Amino acid sequence: MLTVKTPLRRTIVPLIISAFFAPLSLAEQGFDAFPPSKESPIATQVTPMFITLGFDDNLEINGLSWIMDLLANNHNPNGHDAYANRDLRASFFMHCEPAMENEDVKTLWRQLVQIGHEVANHSQTHPDDKVNYNPLQSWMTAEQWQEEVTLCNKLLTRSTEEGGIGVETVFGFRAPFMTYNDNTLNAVVNNGIRYDVSFPAGITPDQDGTNNIWPHTLENGSPSHAMAASGGWKPVIDNYPGLWEIPLHTLIVPPDSKMEHYGLNYSLRDKIAGRIGYFDPNNGKGDNFDWNLYFTPNWGAAGLSEDDVVAIYQYNLDLRLEGNRAPLTLGLHSAF
Ligand SMILES: [Zn+2]
Repeated sequence: MLTVKTPLRRTIVPLIISAFFAPLSLAEQGFDAFPPSKESPIATQVTPMFITLGFDDNLEINGLSWIMDLLANNHNPNGHDAYANRDLRASFFMHCEPAMENEDVKTLWRQLVQIGHEVANHSQTHPDDKVNYNPLQSWMTAEQWQEEVTLCNKLLTRSTEEGGIGVETVFGFRAPFMTYNDNTLNAVVNNGIRYDVSFPAGITPDQDGTNNIWPHTLENGSPSHAMAASGGWKPVIDNYPGLWEIPLHTLIVPPDSKMEHYGLNYSLRDKIAGRIGYFDPNNGKGDNFDWNLYFTPNWGAAGLSEDDVVAIYQYNLDLRLEGNRAPLTLGLHSAF
């Protein structure tokens, strides 16, 4: 996990404003239907640049403690919003079952709640609902998905005295391995969860990093999900009116012409293309999750250095600041 220290400190920290609460407050104001849009809900020039950090699993004490310290020791910039100058807040998507009998983990999870971080649902047993790596073939029933989401919510919302974590409301969900279908999403809705952050995003050819889609509701699907479904790597799904999708956009790898600007003297696109078969060096659209960026190529990841990842984060932040300021959402693991 030490490998993410530098990128977080150098790139992300100065501009973080909050976790995933902006669209939720829109929902509370009556924006129950908010279609996919490239326009900021307010004038772009006064739109805060949101960076949202979502950490998955959270069962490893050292990594989780390190992230908590990092967030506590950095502050949002000056401003007029409720988060100005306050310690950073992040979202934590919990793999629940292993925590149930682990008091050390539960103590840290309760601290997250007390500090004001978001504690969200990442399922009870972290199942991989694919058959032979094919996301179109699932082995889990609707009942199994219901149980996965419900049992995790129960642990999170039960009081501390009853052995729970004491979360008042579970707002968010991320599917393990980002593998979801209608059974998953129905279980999410049935449990009163308000947003998902599992869909592919930013992959349609028109989205270039400056014009990514803002968080939206799912009464009419998602353009990137539709593209993935037509490409045969996501199942077709129903519509989910009122359920928000927070786009975890593809991160665009800086083109060769920009590498010097980010302090590197080689082609990052070529480096990744040599390791990741599905990476297209022409559009540069790559993975978002820390595991995919850092882990070793023989496990199917890009094996990048800290400097590489800083360059990618910085480039995607710069594209947003030049463009529509769609929130930059990063997929992370506290143990990694
Ligand atoms: Zn996970």
